Amino acid sequence: MKLNNNIISDLKKIVGDDGILLSSADLASYSYDGSCNWQSMPDVVVFPQTTEQVSDIMKLAYENTIPITPRGAGTSLSGGPVPSSGGIVLCTARMNRILEIDEENFAVTAEAGVVLNNMNMELAKRNLFFPPDPQSFLAATIGGCIAVGAGGPYAVKYGVFKHYILGMTIVLANGSIIDIGGNTMKNVTGYDLPQLVCGSEGTLCTVTKIKLRLVPKPKASQTITAVFNDVTNAGNAVHMIKSKGVIPAKIELIDNWVINRVNEITGMGFPSDADAILFFEVDGSPESIKKEEEDVVALCKEAGAEDVWAAKDAEDAMKVWGARRSGFLAIYGNAPTALAEDVTVPTNKISEFLERVKDIRKKYDVEVVIIGHAGDGNLHPTVLTDKKDTEHYERADKAVQELFKTALNLGGAISGEHGIGLEKQRFLKDAISGDEINLLKGIKKIFDPKGILNPGKIWEQ
Ligand SMILES: Cc1cc2nc3c(=O)[nH]c(=O)nc-3n(C[C@H](O)[C@H](O)[C@H](O)COP(=O)(O)OP(=O)(O)OC[C@H]3O[C@@H](n4cnc5c(N)ncnc54)[C@H](O)[C@@H]3O)c2cc1C
Repeated sequence: MKLNNNIISDLKKIVGDDGILLSSADLASYSYDGSCNWQSMPDVVVFPQTTEQVSDIMKLAYENTIPITPRGAGTSLSGGPVPSSGGIVLCTARMNRILEIDEENFAVTAEAGVVLNNMNMELAKRNLFFPPDPQSFLAATIGGCIAVGAGGPYAVKYGVFKHYILGMTIVLANGSIIDIGGNTMKNVTGYDLPQLVCGSEGTLCTVTKIKLRLVPKPKASQTITAVFNDVTNAGNAVHMIKSKGVIPAKIELIDNWVINRVNEITGMGFPSDADAILFFEVDGSPESIKKEEEDVVALCKEAGAEDVWAAKDAEDAMKVWGARRSGFLAIYGNAPTALAEDVTVPTNKISEFLERVKDIRKKYDVEVVIIGHAGDGNLHPTVLTDKKDTEHYERADKAVQELFKTALNLGGAISGEHGIGLEKQRFLKDAISGDEINLLKGIKKIFDPKGILNPGKIWEQ
């Protein structure tokens, strides 16, 4: 759709001349997301600085039925912030103020465009801790994380974004500004709207302000690395450890392919013939982490680990986690197209899932590499391919379909944290019932009767 000059000049009045992008070179930067698998040009990108400006933009879009796609940092891996119907991209990058850190009540209030790492740095100065840690934390915004229900390695012990929301300010499609939720951890006052907004991928409203609960920073932590000659044993170790009642803060897995790419990028020198590595973090008091470290080492050995060692010091631990974080970069940097999936299976099914991946790799003769938050069963099997090589891409796509089918057959989910966006909507009907999809569509209609908010996402149109 082409926006007329009156709309553009009205947008300029709201956000100022420097709060708007119009040139095709600028617009191109907002036409894709972190997955790089989807592209669609917006007509305009706007950068509001206040909730009131967001409301005025929404009113204008509503009156003129213009599609509007909220966007944070654009690091999504599901096509969610790609403006697939054109129109306005509403980017929250300038709504980047931390409004209050309430040390007495362990809470932080921030604007939606605050980058997670920036918030964490401020919290660390006060010995406060916000655990959800998507591995894009150096760029991802709080609003984007809420909108996809993001999580990360700490989910094993601490949960994900949705477990930390107290309240938020949202702007509806018609421009109404509403405060939802509240200030307290326990709050049962009607339907839980903040939980509904969390994971709604910008299709229900634009989030402008969020109040999150915090926890005190653990006094001590220890990092443990365990090397396995069979990825299936690594999967078994994860379940064995959890079922013995040992709950590390993090349990992450990388397979042989990722180990070697990570070695190339970071020079870590992990054993290049290892089939998988598990990285653990245990945290708590100095006494409790010593006991947990011993338990993790013993249980990994029992599950068949070839070698297990604890980090020497904090610097050593930081290197390990930096190496783990470089895993996705290694994947994206080594294939023209990477189909990075986000399935989740119950932890007692992880090893079975990993076995099936070996079969899928052989059946379709494609590289399927694995990185993931194994501790909560959330794995990112990634099929390496090239969209331009039609024959290879078709095989890769069939492998993806089978990965989803396998996860669902094992009682899992098609997305643990990246959302459905454009990437997974063709699998939605396999994952949830038609009745549930109809309920979702009904809810969307109440929030957004004209269907202008991030249209084309979640379900097939
Ligand atoms: C290297 C890498 C590692 C990653 N690791 C993880 C990980 O460990 N865990 C994880 O969960 N994800 C991970 N991701 C995916 C991604 O970073 C997260 O989904 C993140 O939460 C997206 O935040 P963002 O600000 O970039 O949002 P965007 O990508 O800009 O948007 C994501 C979705 O949220 C909507 N949205 C954005 N802001 C708002 C708002 N204010 N109001 C309403 N809707 C909004 C958009 O419309 C879109 O649908 C990773 C991505 C990369 C590139």
